[in-house]
Amino acid sequence: MTAPRIDIDLGKIEHNTRVLVDRLALTGIGVTGVTKATLGSPGVGAAMLRGGAVGLADSHIENLARLSRLDPAPVARTLIRSPMLSQADLVVRDATCSLNTELSVLSELNRAASRRHVLHDVVLMVELGDLREGIAVRQVPDVVRHVLRCSSLRLVGLGANLACQSGVVPTSRNMGILTELVGRVEGDYAVELTTVSGGNSANLRWASQALDTGRINDLRLGESILLGLDPLDRTPIEGLHQDGFVASVEVIEVANKPAQPWGQRAQSAYGTAQVRGGSMTVRQAILAIGRQDTDPAGLTPPEGITILGSSSDHLVVDLGDHPAVVGDELQFGLNYGALNRAMASPFVTRTEIR
Ligand SMILES: *Cc1c(COP(=O)(O)O)cnc(C)c1O
Repeated sequence: MTAPRIDIDLGKIEHNTRVLVDRLALTGIGVTGVTKATLGSPGVGAAMLRGGAVGLADSHIENLARLSRLDPAPVARTLIRSPMLSQADLVVRDATCSLNTELSVLSELNRAASRRHVLHDVVLMVELGDLREGIAVRQVPDVVRHVLRCSSLRLVGLGANLACQSGVVPTSRNMGILTELVGRVEGDYAVELTTVSGGNSANLRWASQALDTGRINDLRLGESILLGLDPLDRTPIEGLHQDGFVASVEVIEVANKPAQPWGQRAQSAYGTAQVRGGSMTVRQAILAIGRQDTDPAGLTPPEGITILGSSSDHLVVDLGDHPAVVGDELQFGLNYGALNRAMASPFVTRTEIR
């Protein structure tokens, strides 16, 4: 088998999706599966759909194009990063829906959809305090009127995104504002908003604890499905697998080395040199993966092994009592950042296990 490699257990992804879908169904919330950390992997997308996700979403239109080649193609494919003005034509071709905030982008999407004779669904994102994408609450009516004048766009709903930029927690208060706004827009403009997308995996705690989830009927879930973690504090979500993705990395050098470097010291490859503890010798191994291929700080080594440092293409570990020799593979868990980067590296292969 080639290394480094990510083994993806599609059964675990399907299971995680199904558990979340079933729990959220109790409050009338559907799940949109977010594939961006896997570069829009069709295998992962299909597993999410088997688990009961009502649609798929990604931040890159190229990934949605990959997903559109699934057979059958997912009926709902949502672009969750505001479309680039320069990609409007690709967006209306490969996404069925996009999350939007900008008038100029909406106009361009309308023109592109009209040229292709398609109707493109639009969810308007509302700023609720996290200060990433979103229209100010008082400006939402202006943008609603703009979309309603675009004959090739269909306003399907409102949405919000919290906890990504500033760590603002989804609560009954901010979710209540979204619900209230939905009612106001429907009343003022005689439209029906069928999609109210409250947020991402960070909304799960709110959804499980809220007495009333109001009009929210969709969550866009990535990390919770893929890694089984609650992004608010990265605790495991009960009943979900945390090991759907495992990285296997090959050992390329093993030697007993002094714990401490010697010679005059300056910067290392990534700035300040990494501090090594201890004073005796360590059984050190070098593994063939580095910062270009993943985020070493987001890797969890096997029991008894400690990460000592990393450069672009090397990961240095203290093997402790582990009997690894050159040519062996060691298995690591990945956090969201490490997974993101590893899935995007051309040097990391991916195998899917069903
Ligand atoms: C990434 C992203 C998501 C999914 O977030 P997770 O924390 O992985 O569930 C949802 N919505 C938007 C707008 C995103 O950018």
